[in-house]
Amino acid sequence: MKTVGNGFYRLVIGATTIVMSLVACGGYGAMQSLILQNLKENALLEVQQGVNDIDQWLITLKTEVESLASTPTIQTMNWALVEPYLKQEITNSGDIVAFSDVFFIFAMVEADGSFYNTKVGRSAKNASHREYFKRAMAGQTTVSDPFIGLETDIPTIAIAAPILSPTTAEPMGDINGNVKLDRLTQVVNQLNYGEGSYAFVLNSKGGAIAHPNRDLLFNVDRPTSPILLNHADPDLATIAKHMVNREQGINLHAIDGKRQYVAYLPLTAADWSVALVIPRQNIERQLLPLNAIALTVVGLTLAMITLLWKVQTFEQRQLKKTKNAAEAANQAKSEFLANISHELRTPLNSILGYAQILRREKNITPKQQKGLDIISQSGEHLLALINDVLDIAKIEARKLTVQPQPTHLLSLLTGVVDIIRVRALQKGLQFYYYPGEPLPQYILVDERRLRQILLNLLGNAVKFTQEGGVTLKVDSASFMQTRSEQSCRLSFEIKDTGVGISTREISRIFQPFEQGEKLYNKLEGTGLGLAISQQIVKLMGSQLQVRSRLKEGSTFSFSLNVEISPLESLSTLQSLDFKSASAVIGYKGERKTILIVDDRWENRSVMASLLEPLGFVLLQAEDGQIGLEKTSCHQPDLIITDLVMPKLDGYAFLQKMRQKGQQSDSIQSIPVIVSSASVSKSDRQASLNAGASDFLPKPIWTSELLMLLRKYLKIEWQYEDKSEPVLARTRRASPLKYALNHEQPTEEVQLTLPPPDEIAPLHHAASMGNITQVEYEAHRLTDLNASYQAFAEKLLNFAQAMDDEAILTLVETCYSAQKPPYTQRIS
Ligand code: ADP
Repeated sequence: MKTVGNGFYRLVIGATTIVMSLVACGGYGAMQSLILQNLKENALLEVQQGVNDIDQWLITLKTEVESLASTPTIQTMNWALVEPYLKQEITNSGDIVAFSDVFFIFAMVEADGSFYNTKVGRSAKNASHREYFKRAMAGQTTVSDPFIGLETDIPTIAIAAPILSPTTAEPMGDINGNVKLDRLTQVVNQLNYGEGSYAFVLNSKGGAIAHPNRDLLFNVDRPTSPILLNHADPDLATIAKHMVNREQGINLHAIDGKRQYVAYLPLTAADWSVALVIPRQNIERQLLPLNAIALTVVGLTLAMITLLWKVQTFEQRQLKKTKNAAEAANQAKSEFLANISHELRTPLNSILGYAQILRREKNITPKQQKGLDIISQSGEHLLALINDVLDIAKIEARKLTVQPQPTHLLSLLTGVVDIIRVRALQKGLQFYYYPGEPLPQYILVDERRLRQILLNLLGNAVKFTQEGGVTLKVDSASFMQTRSEQSCRLSFEIKDTGVGISTREISRIFQPFEQGEKLYNKLEGTGLGLAISQQIVKLMGSQLQVRSRLKEGSTFSFSLNVEISPLESLSTLQSLDFKSASAVIGYKGERKTILIVDDRWENRSVMASLLEPLGFVLLQAEDGQIGLEKTSCHQPDLIITDLVMPKLDGYAFLQKMRQKGQQSDSIQSIPVIVSSASVSKSDRQASLNAGASDFLPKPIWTSELLMLLRKYLKIEWQYEDKSEPVLARTRRASPLKYALNHEQPTEEVQLTLPPPDEIAPLHHAASMGNITQVEYEAHRLTDLNASYQAFAEKLLNFAQAMDDEAILTLVETCYSAQKPPYTQRIS
């Protein structure tokens, strides 16, 4: 129970850990993308900051050039005045930047494109094709795309502002300050995001203006830079597209042979876009603490699960060890019980066997008869105890099983009722039996076990009742029929008017070795019966119920769902034939030889004493070896062998008997009945496997033995002669001179009457006026013993005439005629 509990808790902890880990994993994923998003936005913000700086730088330059353009000197458009002024401006510090640091040259372009610069003065070239000039003439201040200076051959950008007429405010030309492209690159290079990051700038057409890779830039030999929109590297082309479209964002791209983040933003002061390439780890490094936490959680989860698994396997190993030890102990106990049972059954076989043999003696006195009855009863009681203890051991070892077989229900019930009726009668109790109408004829049930339950419950009812009566009710209900099977619910109720059971005791009586205290503890019993019955009923899929009131009586009940068998059951009917085995006096036909193989002389002696008087020729052998020799020498008709024997045991004897090639066909086909005190199912099965024809448990019941002999020797029994005075020979039948018609005592016929224990059910049926039951009893008595036939016929005649009074008189007359000593109360 504890292990089951621990296992359950571990399962809960394990499952919780896994669920928590899954939740943590999901949470980690969400958290990671949230943090990453945040980090990317931060990176973009930083790039934005750098881009703002570049914008600010360009705006400052534009402002400077615009303010220059609006000075009166410049507005003169007279290069002779403008040139010295500009040169001075270059060397002087401006308000915001030192011009010399930024502008390396200034130029003035007239409305027709002719231009002057501070390097060459009046140029022979024309600048009217320049975009910045066109825009200036349109009144705009612009930052030009880089170009190769006309007079300098240096990659340059021009910050161009229109020179407006002071009178008309119309552009008269432009003034532009030229900045070396390197200068822009220096500014752009200041933009970075950790080690390995770099910035680049694209112009409005997708050409690189600033880039650490000079191959992507233009130069004197290649006046325009390659357009990256068409670059062979798709990632670079994609980035270029975003930039030319003046979009902003930050994405992972395969760039420079590895995946890196690229943040891109457009400038406002020029038609350019700035991109910053950031190595992945510069951003994701900040995820490390989170990853470390996640890893720790994963590690802890794995450790937890491994620990749980290890504890579980360790415990399972321990459990297995304990189970093996318990199984070994159980096995030892079972073996011990089997041995003890074997040892007890062997002497019991002699006791019960000789009691049966002596009962067959002709000159037995009533006193001897009573002594024999006591010997039999004590022996049977002892046998019942052994069986109970074995059953309890089986229950503990969970080896008790039920084996449903086709069973003739009424025969089973009548068998039980007959036994209990006698016991009730002996105590002066009434016994009522109500078989409900209709009961199924054949059912699938473990006949032996059902009989055991009923005998236990009814036996208890009689035992614990001093006056009043005991009732058995059997009913069938909920008859169900499907295409493949028929089934019904059989309910059994055993009611008594006995001492009853207190509420406190009711909870204990189903425990093994528990008995009602004080009041009844002087009664015999072991306290095992109810525990066994309850277990069997449970195995049959039901539950034993009890209702009881002290001093008023008890009612035990149970219901079984049983299948109705379409089969004719042979075993039940056959065994019924031999209920009155004591009436068998011999058999018809030629003499049969039986070999008894048993190492115990007392067992051989019981068997011989039983069988020799019936006319069998008996051979004996003390072990399997001698058995084999006698078999080949005498070729007996049947062999009865024990199992446990020195030299050659029963199994080896059987194997040698059945060995092809070693034995002749006639020897191999001799039926062999194993009769053993080792009565477990496995012994039974092992015997059959070794070649036994059947199994006969010890102690031997004459009826069972005779049934097997008839089956395997194919003989017909001879019963006592009807005309013979039977009372002298057997206690089961007695003669009575009875008037066939009691009103005409002259026609006297000698009838053989059954003994009181056989007449009891008949007496009950007669006193209840139950004609059908009387007819049934009449047939049963004829089956029991052919010598009762005349008596039975008489009964049937009365039954046909519906003369219940005549039936009762007939039964009571013969009943009272035999009264002493059978109806004496047993104190
Ligand atoms: P045993 O009869 O051998 O003592 P059982 O297990 O059959 O063992 O019964 C256990 C106890 O239950 C009995 O000792 C008795 O106290 C009580 N009991 C069983 N059946 C009855 C009954 N019909 N009336 C009163 N008490 C009963």
